[in-house]
Amino acid sequence: MALEPKSRGDRFSTWGLLWGGVVAIWICAIGAEFLVQSAWHTHPLETPSDTVILLTMDGVRMHEMFEGLDPDLAKSKGEQTLMPFFTKEMVPLGAFLGARDFGSRFELGHPIGISMPSYHSIFTGRFTWCFRNECGPVWGQTLLSRVIDTFGQGALAFFSTYGDLCPAFSVPNDVTQICLGRSNNVVENFSETFGYRLGDKDAAVFSVAYVHVKEANRKLIYVGLEETDIAGHLDQYDDYTRILREYDQYLQFLVAEIDRQIATGRRVTLIVTTDHARGSGENWGQHRWSIKGTGDLWLAAYGSGIRPVGFDVTGPNRSLYDVRATIEYLLGLDVARADVMSEILEIP
Ligand SMILES: [Zn+2]
Repeated sequence: MALEPKSRGDRFSTWGLLWGGVVAIWICAIGAEFLVQSAWHTHPLETPSDTVILLTMDGVRMHEMFEGLDPDLAKSKGEQTLMPFFTKEMVPLGAFLGARDFGSRFELGHPIGISMPSYHSIFTGRFTWCFRNECGPVWGQTLLSRVIDTFGQGALAFFSTYGDLCPAFSVPNDVTQICLGRSNNVVENFSETFGYRLGDKDAAVFSVAYVHVKEANRKLIYVGLEETDIAGHLDQYDDYTRILREYDQYLQFLVAEIDRQIATGRRVTLIVTTDHARGSGENWGQHRWSIKGTGDLWLAAYGSGIRPVGFDVTGPNRSLYDVRATIEYLLGLDVARADVMSEILEIP
């Protein structure tokens, strides 16, 4: 039988098959994506948190939490932990990410290891083109704008010793806020008169934030404490460690108030983390991508919706990029599954 050249119709059917296959694969991929996404829609968080409190401590490394005073830096010997409430009372009833002894890792988002890019990571959940503290305001949606768009401006309260965060995230003027900032000299003037020490601005910011926590009428309360990082850059280890002890007391106040509100039936969740860690030895005061230790971050969570696993968390390596989605999920919003730190959550 002689071979005949393929007819025009045959050629069309071959191309048709090929294209049909491509389209079928494409439809399957979209279908799979939809099924993954809809897994959240079919199992939404039935009882979201009424309030999530996000507290950041700027440039706090884990050493003083778990090993106490650093013998290379301290003049005296000290106790095993400078944050006894945090490590011995809060975390065991909550969850902690970043404890290497338990195989858990919590890392930087933006790799540069300085503050503003890291706050971008926290509030956007993604990489941003920000490589210095003075970079311009964030483009696109953030955790803050999403909370405002969904629940209204009254749902957010924003308090930060690092005042540059307000313009960086375009916090609207109508939102309850404190942004002290290095350029704001009110506290400095006050301090010259009455005697200022590092940690006092944080104390002022925390006290106002605490009043708003007690009012129990916000969806998201952000508390940004910064003076640990200033003490680090000034190489004032005594101040750094004193402020850590003060932060421990703030957490004790917060947890007591959260427990009180939970007992009344409210659902309140606390997330505590840092924007970057620090170096060690003579580099203890510094942090950036090239300084070892900068990327050894940690995150702790406590309260409603948090699985009480303590330090014993198994899951993928996490980073600051996962904070936003986790908070949005706790607030009952739709988010991508992979970004939610489900290993520390009570998911129904
Ligand atoms: Zn710094």
